[in-house]
Amino acid sequence: MSGSKIPPLPPECLEVLKHVWDYLDDQLTDETTERLRAHIAECQGCFQYKSFQENFLEAVSTLRLRPGASPELREKVLGTLRTEGFAR
Ligand SMILES: [Zn+2]
Repeated sequence: MSGSKIPPLPPECLEVLKHVWDYLDDQLTDETTERLRAHIAECQGCFQYKSFQENFLEAVSTLRLRPGASPELREKVLGTLRTEGFAR
């Protein structure tokens, strides 16, 4: 934990990055959820990240729920997820 000149993201932001899926899934303890929510409310970067993930989750679940969604479209979305490094 020493010798690095470029400071990493603040721990609060790292926590959001790490737990955003669980946060959106409501899988965290009340305390953690509250802490992340408070941070996201005041951190522009985390807010954008959270919104992006939220939209993506929504898009994915829409695809899952719609039987008529084409496999190509599905693949495209999932491929984007992987490319962006957001796959779980
Ligand atoms: Zn942040």
